[in-house]
Amino acid sequence: MTGSTANNIRLGVMAGDGIGHEIVPATQNVVAEALNAAGAAVEWVSLPLGRDAIETDGTPIPDSTLEALDGLEGWVLGPHDSASYPDEFRGQLTPGGVIRKRFDLFANIRPARALEGVSATVPGMDLVVVRENTEGLYADRNMFVGSGEFMPTPDVAIAVGVVTRRACERIAHSAFALARTRNKHVTIVHKANVLSMSTGLFRDVCREVGEQYPDVRVDDEHVDAMTALLVRRGADFDVIVTENMFGDILSDLTAELSGSLGTAPSVNASETRVMAQAAHGAAPDIAGHNRANPTALFLSAAMMLDWIAEKRDAHVFAEAARRITNAVERTIASGVATADLGGLASTSEFTEMVLARTTRR
Ligand code: ATP
Repeated sequence: MTGSTANNIRLGVMAGDGIGHEIVPATQNVVAEALNAAGAAVEWVSLPLGRDAIETDGTPIPDSTLEALDGLEGWVLGPHDSASYPDEFRGQLTPGGVIRKRFDLFANIRPARALEGVSATVPGMDLVVVRENTEGLYADRNMFVGSGEFMPTPDVAIAVGVVTRRACERIAHSAFALARTRNKHVTIVHKANVLSMSTGLFRDVCREVGEQYPDVRVDDEHVDAMTALLVRRGADFDVIVTENMFGDILSDLTAELSGSLGTAPSVNASETRVMAQAAHGAAPDIAGHNRANPTALFLSAAMMLDWIAEKRDAHVFAEAARRITNAVERTIASGVATADLGGLASTSEFTEMVLARTTRR
């Protein structure tokens, strides 16, 4: 499928829109340098997506891009600014949504870790939100055909939420397996006191799956209580597993509590594919000014390499991931920061500092 060999890898890359044109090339440089330092090499497969693709292919997500992704196990997706596309493309699934759906990227993994040198509302926070990515109330992804949201009359809107045992089982396995590599604690977040069948099924299936991981401590919380707990004692959580919309909201909260959107990484993964995608958007207000913080995408790319290392049982990719993460952490801890974190460094200056540290052990 991949055209990659043992220590060489082909990775897809889509710059997207806005600050994507700055942070994606920076990420390519950092990934290439880290892989090189670890004894591996990358061949990038650049694919059109977003505004550029509208110009060249007449659509923000060309079939040729999807077909090329089909042959790759990992790729980096820059942010897209779908709200700014011409009218005919609005209301359609966003490019990221099309990719997630086509490749069934069911697990959205979003760590929130307070970094040294970044002022955090919850200083000791070090948790991961494991968000189910294919169902729930999100109308753009929970139907085979059509939308889960519709209006029988102009004054009535209905949204259908979908929860299946299969989707709960696979996301629960992702969460418990991840917890085993961390502090062995999973918190299931639901709203089973009100949405008793749908999020109740989610909670119950997660609990059942948890029985297969007896070394992992399990508890569960209602999503409303969880928002307060995260603010009050967010450092006490390890892995949070939850359904789509709760995960979307909670992971923005945890990103902000642990630092800022500019530092919040994420991957979307299936059993066979992984996509690095920062949690933030295209930030059109600062695009083109060399001011964007590339941290979130650097750390997302490191997560992608870790995922590949595990799937291939190939340490070299984990070593490259470790180099990227360490380089980013040491750079920020040394006081070098972009404007969003109160620093003076430009995107390119920050990237140079990270690149220099990537080659050190
Ligand atoms: P979307 O709906 O696509 O997530 P949005 O407009 O809600 O987009 P962002 O594009 O993430 O959100 O921007 C929100 C704010 O955060 C903006 O002021 C933007 O400049 C800032 N921001 C987002 N990402 C970064 C980044 N990597 N570096 C610096 N500032 C950023």
